Amino acid sequence: MTLWKQTIAEAHKRLSKREISPVELLHSVQARIKEAEPSVHSYLSVFNEEAEAQAKEAETRLKGGGEVSPLTGIPLAIKDILCIRNQPTTCGSKILESFKPPYDATAITRLRQAGAVFTGKTNMDEFAMGSSTENSAFGPSRNPWDLTRVPGGSSGGSASAVAAGEALGALGTDTGGSIRQPASFCGIVGMKPTYGLVSRFGLVAFASSLDQIGPMCHTVEDCRLVLDAIAGHDAKDSTSATFKLSDLKSYAEAGKADASVKGMVVGIPKEFFGAGLDPEVRKVVMDAAKKMESLGARIEEVAFPSLEYALSAYYLIASGEASSNLARYDGTRYGLRVSGPTTKAMFTATRSRGFGLEVKRRIMLGTYALSSGYYDALYLKAQKTRTLLKNDLDKAFKTCQILLTPTSPTPAFKLGDKTSDPLAMYLSDIYTIPVNLAGIPGLSQPGGFSSENLPIGVQLLAPAFHDYVLLQAGKSLETALNLQKRTPVENLSHGNQPATV
Ligand code: GLN
Repeated sequence: MTLWKQTIAEAHKRLSKREISPVELLHSVQARIKEAEPSVHSYLSVFNEEAEAQAKEAETRLKGGGEVSPLTGIPLAIKDILCIRNQPTTCGSKILESFKPPYDATAITRLRQAGAVFTGKTNMDEFAMGSSTENSAFGPSRNPWDLTRVPGGSSGGSASAVAAGEALGALGTDTGGSIRQPASFCGIVGMKPTYGLVSRFGLVAFASSLDQIGPMCHTVEDCRLVLDAIAGHDAKDSTSATFKLSDLKSYAEAGKADASVKGMVVGIPKEFFGAGLDPEVRKVVMDAAKKMESLGARIEEVAFPSLEYALSAYYLIASGEASSNLARYDGTRYGLRVSGPTTKAMFTATRSRGFGLEVKRRIMLGTYALSSGYYDALYLKAQKTRTLLKNDLDKAFKTCQILLTPTSPTPAFKLGDKTSDPLAMYLSDIYTIPVNLAGIPGLSQPGGFSSENLPIGVQLLAPAFHDYVLLQAGKSLETALNLQKRTPVENLSHGNQPATV
């Protein structure tokens, strides 16, 4: 048995029966990292001593020396935008290259309490701005299914790490699709929870009203196990929701202990199937709809007329918030400082050298949208559009429990294909962005494959705080589709080498 190939649930079973040990499991994953990293470049830093110590601690717990959870001894990769005490937290940026936070993010604290083992920090587009990891200041990651293609972004390193077997699961963050789109490109499951369900404390802010931390794993069940550990109210995040996790679960489980979608109404928003959607992606989503119908769900077409405004609204709001959040990187407090004759010259030189092109583009766009002469015409209008989107969703959820859509219009694209055309890059999140603007939960899971054997994800959506209903529907579809065995892991050892781009 190859230990790194296991799902979290499988590994947990063997760990609790003491058939394998956390240290053995970690070593297997670390060997896999050594083997795969030269081709995929999922990680920005790999933890050795700290991971070993965590695995040993997990071993003690499993031997009866402390609390055991489904994540005890499980090697997880962490997107490099989440603070881990005394470890580099670069956000894929030169400006934070030397930054080591003195504290843990709440999600990290909770994973530590659960006994998880951190393998390292994963690559990402700089400050989570991008859809391919090509905006990372430290070079892109590659898609394990085809090394000439992107793994998606911005959590592309987390997605490629899980797909390539370099961790059993990972944390990503999703501001406009950054968990779901890379999950779709890499053939794994990724979930953006309801806004407020997972604390953002210790998550370096991109767009605070949209950012959420979520799991990226091989199966829906694994995502649920990670969500169980990280969700919950946190006094350190003023936007953290007050709820009892057990209430959300029992609501989902009422009458649905078998995780079936029987009797559910699944809505298909017709605007998600317009121009720009790859016919192979459309087919995979429609086949998933048929599958859900065969499981006893009723499929209904619903309207989502405001979809056409979502991308514009998102880029105004997200960039506006980013321009404010990123003002703190000026050479005074964090990371890089490039000195100059005056304080202002120091600020300018630091920001000019520290930030990459996409980050600068967003700061300029956001500052412009928030400036007094343009605020009403741009930012305020975008906020009103946000309400329109929410209204469309509320209306759809009056008749449906779940919505089914594509995750991204195409399968993974080639490295370099969209780097010179920001708008083309932005369009790959057209179906995921409305979900962040409305604050609802979204799940991307494998739906099928393209003719070129690239994974294609389908997206399921549910009303706010129906996260566990969403997971149940996802699990039921996953079981019915039974795609889990088609992993890309063998590719890497068969001469599928990176092309030069
Ligand atoms: N690709 C989108 C952007 O560039 C979404 C990013 C994200 O979710 N972090 O903003």
